[in-house]
Amino acid sequence: MKLISIVVPCYNEEESLPLFENAINDVIKQMQEEHAELAFELLFIDDGSKDKTLPILRKMALKDKRVRYISFSRNFGKEAGMYAGLKNAKGDFVVVMDADLQHPPAFLPRMYNYVKDGEFDCATTRRVSRQGESKIRSAFARLFYKIMNKISQTEIVDGAQDFRFMSRQMVDAILDMPEYNRFSKGIFSWVGFKTQYIEYENVEREAGTSSWSFWGLFKYSLEGIMAFSTAPLSVAIFLGGASCIASLPMLINAIVKSSKTSGILCAVFFMGGIQLCCTGILGQYFAKAYLEGKHRPIYIMRENEEIYRSRHQAAGV
Ligand code: UDP
Ligand code: MG
Repeated sequence: MKLISIVVPCYNEEESLPLFENAINDVIKQMQEEHAELAFELLFIDDGSKDKTLPILRKMALKDKRVRYISFSRNFGKEAGMYAGLKNAKGDFVVVMDADLQHPPAFLPRMYNYVKDGEFDCATTRRVSRQGESKIRSAFARLFYKIMNKISQTEIVDGAQDFRFMSRQMVDAILDMPEYNRFSKGIFSWVGFKTQYIEYENVEREAGTSSWSFWGLFKYSLEGIMAFSTAPLSVAIFLGGASCIASLPMLINAIVKSSKTSGILCAVFFMGGIQLCCTGILGQYFAKAYLEGKHRPIYIMRENEEIYRSRHQAAGV
């Protein structure tokens, strides 16, 4: 028997979950008809949802033994959810996918065909269009991938997603990266392994709303750049050097024309700006190192299906 774990991070997904449950069960059935050796577990991560996500998961877990869940003590973010899922998944293969059906379950049989014989360690989808997304968001996303791939050795494919079908070896490699500031798109790429990309058109959310604001995505992209590149630190050195050189003609000018207040002011502002900018960049890296140094847990579990089932049983007796 081969076990496939399907990890699903959920944050306020009460509307999507019933749709997801139906869709995934159809695909599981289809895959089991084709491959008799397959068994499945569904591992939902409730990332501190404020709606009925947890009660829905509890019900699903009582009804279906293949359903497991981990409920966090608060919202830790999707990255923490994915990490918790990978860490607790028991499968020979692990799938990570969103609950909102933007990662269509219908891809799973194809993905399995790529990884089942070890030809690939990972199968994933790549959006070739950003249909249904605002123009500004798409433009910034493109810019992010451009900058990222220029300044970091870790290549991040434009349109690559967190929808992954991975072998146990790859999952274990990812778990060996217990960093606190997680940027999965970078981590998936950094660990290497053979990855097959399946291209597809963007699908819009089935229900509910995206929990990403523009500002949230912007901060997340900075997180990605800082986690996988130290190039901004070199920018600081470059800016410092360039401003030193630029100040030389000013100095000569000041000596020749016997100092002008405006010249001095200009130089002071210029230098001050660059220094602040560089200190800021340094500070950001320092802050990340500080957080890593604390070795805080990436997530905290409040309840899982085992706790709930035994509580339910005890209440029933
Ligand atoms: N998600 C999560 N924690 C969060 C935000 C999102 O677990 O703090 C989950 C969410 O439930 C969904 C997936 O991550 O299954 C992707 O989120 P969303 O659809 O909001 O992002 P988008 O598809 O717009 O990038
Ligand atoms: Mg989504």
